[in-house]
Amino acid sequence: MSPEVYPFVVRPLPYEYDALMPVLDEETLRFHHDKHYKTYVDNLNNALSDYPQLQKLSLMELLTTSDDQPMAVRMAIHNNAGGVYNHELYFDSMKGCNDQEPTGALAEAINRDFGSYKQWKEQMKQAAVSKFGSGWAWLIADGDGRLSIVQTANQDVPDLKIYTPLLLVDVWEHAYYLQYQNRRADYVECWFDIINWRKVAKRYEERNKVGR
Ligand code: MN
Repeated sequence: MSPEVYPFVVRPLPYEYDALMPVLDEETLRFHHDKHYKTYVDNLNNALSDYPQLQKLSLMELLTTSDDQPMAVRMAIHNNAGGVYNHELYFDSMKGCNDQEPTGALAEAINRDFGSYKQWKEQMKQAAVSKFGSGWAWLIADGDGRLSIVQTANQDVPDLKIYTPLLLVDVWEHAYYLQYQNRRADYVECWFDIINWRKVAKRYEERNKVGR
């Protein structure tokens, strides 16, 4: 996540635009990253442009201090800081096709809290496919390392003061429509093949180390 402050910059993808084919084709990824994600970055910077005190805050701080922000920009910050946070985590949670499954402490936690990887996958898929309208499905961990699956609407984030986001899937139509049209379930099923489990496991282990 961006440790930086205003003005926020568009982070390049950590892989080539065609690296996730055939699950996500180059056109889909280009539009998603270069247009949709960039728009959230631009709009967040616009929202902060007249507020020097807010320009000192990191993305995480902007997302956890909503109640202290001026009403005039509170919603714009909520939506666009969320859009930046969610997309950076999403793009950074994928890699080229692989047969990976979770490993280490994360695998143990998945087995403990969901029964098995297969059962976790079923529940995650259900959360993603059943999200009404635009939003996200997430795998998150609480302060004790307990895992859960949640949905958020629009560009909302889980409560970041309580939970560490480990993994998320974008189910806005812009994430898949060019390639999958209305077949959200097909997109989600294929997305499981490009999860970067090494990074997800690292997020879980670093949360364990730091404690919260
Ligand atoms: Mn998106």
